[in-house]
Amino acid sequence: MNEVLPKIVLKSGKDQSLKRFHPWVFSGAIKKIYGSVNEGDVVKVFSNQDEFLGLGHYQIGSIAVRIFSFHDIEVDETFWRTKLLNAFRLRQSLDLAGNSETTAYRLVHAEGDGLPGLIIDIYNKTAVMQMHSIGMYNIRHLLAKLLVEILGDRLEAVFDKSSKTIPFKAGLGAADEFIHGESEPGIVLEYGTRFKVDWEEGQKTGFFIDQRENRLLLQQYSKDRDVLNMFCYTGGFSFYALRGGARLVHSVDASAKAIDLTRENVEMNFPGDLRHEAFVADAFEYLKDIKNKYDLIILDPPAFAKHRDALGHALQGYKRINARAFEQIRPGGIVFTFSCSQVVSKEKFREAVFSGAAIAGREVRILHQLNQPPDHPVSIYHPEGEYLKGLVLYVE
Ligand code: SAH
Repeated sequence: MNEVLPKIVLKSGKDQSLKRFHPWVFSGAIKKIYGSVNEGDVVKVFSNQDEFLGLGHYQIGSIAVRIFSFHDIEVDETFWRTKLLNAFRLRQSLDLAGNSETTAYRLVHAEGDGLPGLIIDIYNKTAVMQMHSIGMYNIRHLLAKLLVEILGDRLEAVFDKSSKTIPFKAGLGAADEFIHGESEPGIVLEYGTRFKVDWEEGQKTGFFIDQRENRLLLQQYSKDRDVLNMFCYTGGFSFYALRGGARLVHSVDASAKAIDLTRENVEMNFPGDLRHEAFVADAFEYLKDIKNKYDLIILDPPAFAKHRDALGHALQGYKRINARAFEQIRPGGIVFTFSCSQVVSKEKFREAVFSGAAIAGREVRILHQLNQPPDHPVSIYHPEGEYLKGLVLYVE
């Protein structure tokens, strides 16, 4: 089976992580490549003792192979169909594959679904695919065809949004475009709240589906509180705060477009509600002067570190913004604080927030430790997949 595939042999001792089903082969672990191999090709990986380890997509870069099978099986249409079907069945079994209250969900979460390099989010009847590897990008039409087959009349369009996530050095000229059907930016439901999602122009695949459960939790904490939703983007947390009975909600983001979207979304769900105001501002500036203004603060910044090299800088950033919030929040206040940087571990994030609390000199207690929802599963062998981390804190 797969006899003709290029073969990659690892250096002695570099096979341990693959034997523990970790799906990445780093370039430094490779001893030799047999056969001609192009970026995106399916390759077979072996130990230095010639033991089969896995099948994956090859790419030039620090992660040289992304493994999608630890069994030596045929990588054909049936293989990919089974993978997508498994991902869909998991969501269905959890009642997350779209229901009358929630119409946005993640269908494929890369390594968490044994499909490294592939993200698929569903918004009503549109699938937004975001490829992070050339191997997945090369088979996008096949994947789209299989999606249509599996989802049937639940799907009308497939949008490929990989132009910013595919390594540009590969020179593939990836464009963001529909590869099946077409759809307009639409109104999506999340726990009955309505959001406008623009999959063509918006950040990521258009919306931050991963905060769904954390937003719902926030609703419980909002009653009679003055809320600051910092880094609000489409306003996600703000609607839940309004729904939970907040006294006032201020949404802040550096992007004017995000603020327009937030206003539009608030108006759609809570027409004429004077409790809400939205401001375009830089977080670090805005947080300089909010003394005793708020008793619930949400800090959901963009990934401060996209690469390991930026880790130190990112931790400083988390420390600083959290310190600002702790210093100024009213006594008895609640902070919802997050990090979505994959390279920042749960422990490191907690340490940064801890340092922020120490700077402020306030007594701070952890009420909840949050993460990503079950449609963003984490392979137990790939802890890096646990990228979203959050803490709900009570500030004395
Ligand atoms: N909380 C949002 C997602 C936040 S994404 C949700 O639930 O959907 C991060 C947001 O931070 C983006 O909208 C981006 O425009 C904004 N942002 C980035 N840098 C910023 C800064 N320095 N000050 C304020 N906002 C910033």
